[in-house]
Amino acid sequence: MEERERYDVIIVGAGMAGISAALTLKLHELKILWLGTPQLSEKIQKAEKIKNYPGVAAVSGASFAALLRAQAAEVGLTVTPETATGVYATGNGFSVLTEKNAFESRSVILATGVESVKSVEGEEEFLGRGVSYCATCDGFLYKGKTIAVVCTSKEKEGEAAYLASLAAKVYFVPLYKSPSLSAPNVEYVGGMPLKIEGSKRVEKLIFKERELAVDGIFFLKSAAPPAVLVGGLAVEGGHVAVSRDMRTNIRGLFAAGDCTGRPYQYAKAAGEGNVAAHSAVEYLRSLHEGDKQGKNADL
Ligand SMILES: Cc1cc2nc3c(=O)[nH]c(=O)nc-3n(C[C@H](O)[C@H](O)[C@H](O)COP(=O)(O)OP(=O)(O)OC[C@H]3O[C@@H](n4cnc5c(N)ncnc54)[C@H](O)[C@@H]3O)c2cc1C
Repeated sequence: MEERERYDVIIVGAGMAGISAALTLKLHELKILWLGTPQLSEKIQKAEKIKNYPGVAAVSGASFAALLRAQAAEVGLTVTPETATGVYATGNGFSVLTEKNAFESRSVILATGVESVKSVEGEEEFLGRGVSYCATCDGFLYKGKTIAVVCTSKEKEGEAAYLASLAAKVYFVPLYKSPSLSAPNVEYVGGMPLKIEGSKRVEKLIFKERELAVDGIFFLKSAAPPAVLVGGLAVEGGHVAVSRDMRTNIRGLFAAGDCTGRPYQYAKAAGEGNVAAHSAVEYLRSLHEGDKQGKNADL
């Protein structure tokens, strides 16, 4: 059987924490895979004016993102435009699944940011019982069925269109300005969903003045909750629990940026991305030392 390529580090997320980690790892000439949006995070692109990042005077988010993209390109860093749908500790490293591929690595840095839209009551309770975060993973389960698609970003409309191509009926709930999804089986629903109801599985999505009878609900968010992405990951108040060196409770898995907690700021994200990268380097070195001494035979 052909052996899959194995990376030293996979970085999940191309925001400020992700780019900072990638730039630092690049200096160590490690084999890295960087997953995210090549344009970089919307939270960089869309900032009106950034005034508190050292080294750049008041700058628009769009200009800042362009500077960062140029810096990454200059050192030969590229973002692989894929979304991680699951990160699994395999005992000898990690398997990171995306909608299209499965990648292997020795360590992982989570730099996924936070979703600014609050979770809906019942979202976690019904996960896997009618609630999904991944159109390409679970869409086929809803062929010919009635679903609701709660979408928090225009960037996710392609995934919503894919769901509309499978389902008989889609209640589309865009939580952003100027949505443009259009298909004969798509009905727009305004307002914020309040609650999910059902007995064994999802049955209804409840709004203030309306109830939708549905077979499933897709939440298409820019960042799925970290504990959904990584089974067994310790979280505190919805954030990834980390030590000062950005280690999580899972050996070889590090986290940085907004996903580890407040304050939500570029400088904090950049600092943590840098620390996580250093910790990953140290971790890889310890594996290497273990290999030399005949330990880590399984790593
Ligand atoms: C409008 C606005 C203005 C702001 N202005 C300022 C400011 O002036 N100064 C300041 O310090 N801070 C500001 N902030 C806060 C700042 O944007 C965040 O603190 C910073 O972007 C956090 O960086 P991050 O890398 O942790 O997360 P993010 O920037 O959110 O980046 C995370 C990236 O990971 C991606 N991702 C998530 N899950 C996955 C996955 N499973 N697979 C692949 N990719 C994934 C996301 O789509 C996103 O692109 C502002 C925020 C907003 C929204």
